[in-house]
Amino acid sequence: MNRDPSTLTLAHLPCSLLAAGVTLAACSPPARARPGKAGDKAPDNHRRAEGQGADSVAGAAAQQLRGNLADHQQLPQPADAQGYQQDPEETLNGAIFPIEYDEMVVIRDIDFFSLCEHHLLPFYGKCHVAYLPNGRIVGLSKIPRLVEVYSRRLQVQERLTVQIAEALQQKLNPHGVAVVMEARHLCMMMRGVETPNAVAVTSSMQGVFQSQQKTREEFLQLIRRSGPGSGV
Ligand SMILES: [Zn+2]
Repeated sequence: MNRDPSTLTLAHLPCSLLAAGVTLAACSPPARARPGKAGDKAPDNHRRAEGQGADSVAGAAAQQLRGNLADHQQLPQPADAQGYQQDPEETLNGAIFPIEYDEMVVIRDIDFFSLCEHHLLPFYGKCHVAYLPNGRIVGLSKIPRLVEVYSRRLQVQERLTVQIAEALQQKLNPHGVAVVMEARHLCMMMRGVETPNAVAVTSSMQGVFQSQQKTREEFLQLIRRSGPGSGV
């Protein structure tokens, strides 16, 4: 398997997934109701529905629901969506220290749970994060917290991976950041293509992790067990 992370994309999913012919098309968004308009019109329709039959009331309620679903921020905020109330920057603030440490910092096997924004079904797995400090380090426990803040939102795995990497890059200005995420998606396991063993692997490599193969390989070696997805 090609382990060159600069090309480690969803095209390099584990063989089980490739054999099943799965692509992320399985996660492509269903046709959506036009968000803003449905939501905007809902109160008006609701008033009109008051004097009408049960069908109209149900129709207005359905329209309201579609409007709400279209706007992630308006969804009820269960534990799985708490990340909207937390600022990723604040998560790191107060825990950044000026320390000369030139070696790679790696935190692997960070458990995460998220929700697929296309199907409103969970995806979960392991996240591995590394950075090469440039005069500043962050408290170790802040990295799993950062993963949690971004995970507890409606997400797609690709964007989640990049958001974690970019937040660290911006806040710490290190020589580089690497993030690899391995996850099982209930939307692939229980519906559509029904591939219960498929694992989706995404990565974001920044700075030296992108430009220096040796650094990248060291990181991949440190997070490797018997292969990507084996611990998910
Ligand atoms: Zn999905």
